[in-house]
Amino acid sequence: MRRHPSLRFPHMSEATATAATEPTLDEIVALCKRRGFIFPSSEIYGGVGSTYDYGHYGVLLKTNVKDQWWRAMIGRRDDVVAIDSAIIQHPRVWEASGHLAGFTDPLIDCRTCKLRFRADQIADAHCGRKPSKHPGETDECDLTDAREFNLMFETSVGPVKDSASVAYLRPETAQGIFINFKNVLQFARKKPPFGIAQVGKSFRNEITPGNFIFRTREFEQMEMEYFVPPEDAEKWHRYWLDERMRWYTDLGIRPDQIRLREHGADELSHYSSATSDIEYLFPMGWSELEGIANRGDFDLTEHAKHSGEKLEYFDQDRGEAYVPHVIEPAAGVDRAALAFIVDAYEVEEVEGRKRTVLRLHPRLAPVKVAVLPLVSKAGMPERAREIYEELRSRLAAEYDEGGSIGRRYRRQDEIGTPWGLTVDGQTIEDGTVTLRDRDSLEQTRVPADQVADMLSARLEQGWRNPKLG
Ligand code: ATP
Repeated sequence: MRRHPSLRFPHMSEATATAATEPTLDEIVALCKRRGFIFPSSEIYGGVGSTYDYGHYGVLLKTNVKDQWWRAMIGRRDDVVAIDSAIIQHPRVWEASGHLAGFTDPLIDCRTCKLRFRADQIADAHCGRKPSKHPGETDECDLTDAREFNLMFETSVGPVKDSASVAYLRPETAQGIFINFKNVLQFARKKPPFGIAQVGKSFRNEITPGNFIFRTREFEQMEMEYFVPPEDAEKWHRYWLDERMRWYTDLGIRPDQIRLREHGADELSHYSSATSDIEYLFPMGWSELEGIANRGDFDLTEHAKHSGEKLEYFDQDRGEAYVPHVIEPAAGVDRAALAFIVDAYEVEEVEGRKRTVLRLHPRLAPVKVAVLPLVSKAGMPERAREIYEELRSRLAAEYDEGGSIGRRYRRQDEIGTPWGLTVDGQTIEDGTVTLRDRDSLEQTRVPADQVADMLSARLEQGWRNPKLG
């Protein structure tokens, strides 16, 4: 590879001066809308509260997040298998799991402003009439007592709506894994410790959704149930805490923006003997990104009781059967995507002009390389198209010839494209292109026919978040 770092073009030189401040949620929402990541859903009908649609780059980003999760779960290890279970399952699944009886939030209504609040979050909520006050703090507030509200979405299956047709949209993907434990044990020929992983949509009728895609009623989860001999459960719990923390930091999350928080005894779910949350410092404060629970034998025991099936593992060496304990790393795709965007967002000044850039890990970036003819003449678009066609079979690439080169760079910066290839007059003469690095803004001349190999190799290498200095 030939490198000419000194060869810079006056029309492209971009000296940087960084001004690092953390973004507000409004800035993130604006960028996501402006650049086609995420839109409010049903906008032409006035929108539905806290529901979002993902546009082109949002879909690509989420796909990359899920791909990286699958790579970590099954691509790089042999002890986890995949499953894709149904969203509508037998209603008794939710009886056994405890969701029918216990998946509730305490709800308080205000008869005056008609707003609803989660009783456990009332201290952080705002009064509908006087937002500077908390609900219940003004004379006008007329709050009901707290009552339990089940978060599962009910639906009915088949043409007749009666009690026999009641079904639920799954509120988590985990139960689809437990009910397939026996199938996997038989057909995947696994023995503890082994895991079953699933990615898919879940639905919760949240009382107070909000904070953009942080809490919505329809969202995607990435969950893995890891079945282990009971005596090893604590060890594996610690193991998955470390693994999952590393997944986020390897993908560029700054270590000081992410932390582990152990649940207190009063916070633990009915099934859990220990849970730690991975929290990210979102613009609204430290909030849960992923929960990692030691679920004991609760799920398999309950499903065995309710279904009448034996859900055990027969250990040949010990000559006895036992119910494995379960460690569950449960993450949200949307929350992870939000954390990656927030962590990557930066506004800096380049030669007196503001530049907004998403410093996404190249593996997460929706587009890896943009191919840009310097101008739309002198054979440049044609040559750029050829290079683009060669590249796109190996890397997520985009071709863009509209507008000034500076504007096109800015657009790619905002969607987080790590590399830009500019085709100019010299390309036609000697076959080299300018390779621009999103983060350092360094421009080097490289032979066009070596770019695919070079960038593929860079994608495989580790990446250090430039915000870390
Ligand atoms: P929270 O306390 O924020 O309601 P949770 O503890 O109920 O979350 P889990 O049941 O552990 O969440 O689900 C695992 C993951 O699924 C969460 O860490 C989060 O990333 C994601 N998740 C849960 N509820 C939602 C939601 N309403 N919107 C978006 N993501 C969600």
